[in-house]
Amino acid sequence: MHIKSQKFLILGASKSGFAVAKYIYDAGGTCSVLEELNSEKAQMAKSKLIEMGVDCVSRERVEENLDFYDIVVLSPGVPINHEIAVRAKQLGKRIIGELEFGYLQFLPTMIAVTGTNGKTTTVSLINEILTHAGLNNKLVGNVGIPLTQKIDEISKDCVCIVETSSFQLESVFSFCPHIACILNIAPDHLERHYTMENYVFLKKRIFKNQRESEFTVLNYDDQTVKSFFTETNGKVVWISAKEKVDGAYLENGKFYYKGEYIVDERELRLKGEHNAYNALFAIACAKLLKIETSTLAESIKTFNGVKHRIEFVANKGGVDYYNDSKATNTASTISALSTMVKPTVLILGGSEKGEDYTALFEKVKVSAIKHVVLTGATRYNLLEVASRLGIYNLTVTEKFDCAVKIASMYAQSGDCVLLSPACASYDAFSGFEERGDAFVKLVGEL
Ligand code: ADP
Repeated sequence: MHIKSQKFLILGASKSGFAVAKYIYDAGGTCSVLEELNSEKAQMAKSKLIEMGVDCVSRERVEENLDFYDIVVLSPGVPINHEIAVRAKQLGKRIIGELEFGYLQFLPTMIAVTGTNGKTTTVSLINEILTHAGLNNKLVGNVGIPLTQKIDEISKDCVCIVETSSFQLESVFSFCPHIACILNIAPDHLERHYTMENYVFLKKRIFKNQRESEFTVLNYDDQTVKSFFTETNGKVVWISAKEKVDGAYLENGKFYYKGEYIVDERELRLKGEHNAYNALFAIACAKLLKIETSTLAESIKTFNGVKHRIEFVANKGGVDYYNDSKATNTASTISALSTMVKPTVLILGGSEKGEDYTALFEKVKVSAIKHVVLTGATRYNLLEVASRLGIYNLTVTEKFDCAVKIASMYAQSGDCVLLSPACASYDAFSGFEERGDAFVKLVGEL
């Protein structure tokens, strides 16, 4: 629940209804109260609310504008089968009692982002937008900041942006984010989850507890993610880079949200189709929190991206070096290859994750790759698939520092060298950060 961006209708101005209205009003939210009793007590409560500036509405107005509200809160005296409650339910609104409302106030507003690739980039962008908009926000989760570590810093009005991995989703039970985003799904972590079916099942746990007052943001262009539409009880908001969907979309190089122009793709520092998807998710989240379009557009334009994700390292002898050490599966390397326009020497390899490399080398064949350096523990597995597909412009070397040197030898002025390993890093490093830092250092020494 997010008090400031959702609209509440309270049925009954009794002690409980009054308390809810006051709470919402004090928190800067929007609510209306319908009180149909003519008793002295009820009328007094109504006058007090009007004095405070709360909108006390007539039955007639509620009936006309019922669709305006997101959540209906019932005072204990109002039964759940009250005509307005029933009609609101039919319109897809969330109906809760005062006790449930109060209970939910103990939980912070959360935006949770999962998906195979793009999580860190997307949560970092959302965090930047919310910070620019002056919200009280915290970035936590799989980004390396456990939620529990930040509990004491999370106040009532805080919006938590939670990067959520499949490992974490394995063991959540009551977790219910206000906005759940599923970016994309491609094979990954099969060494832990065994089957794709299980991996997909885990990703869906992000919206398992959502209801009509929550939002599920789904990628219309990803067939697996698109199919979740029928399985969530949250309100679905779509994103698409191909279709004009009900949500955030890209049309002729321009970003829109429900028909409203947001920003031109060319103005973004973040490049590549995959980043357009990440930006679409961030736009959907920001608009759901009612962030001003001008603030949103400015934050998206100035966002520089995140370290180790197709990060420009240096130009050495006319060659541009890019560090994409975070590309630890084939889907992420495939998207990185789509962004390379100049002739590129690609460094691939690391530790095994149980993936099939066929699609990766099919992509190598049709992209700007002029030479591939295979390294790390997976080098011979990669070589086998590459040879099967008729790719022979390859060098195989075990050591990472040799791979970087060899790549620099194959690159000529005007070319690029891209480290985008498509594999984990644990064969030689403590993690992708250490591998990326090693790459940056080695490039510096060339
Ligand atoms: P995650 O946190 O999910 O691992 P990151 O934002 O760290 O994702 O990006 C990891 C890598 O995945 C990047 O280096 C880039 O190559 C690729 N990538 C980023 N966003 C996307 C996306 N939306 N779709 C496909 N690949 C992506």
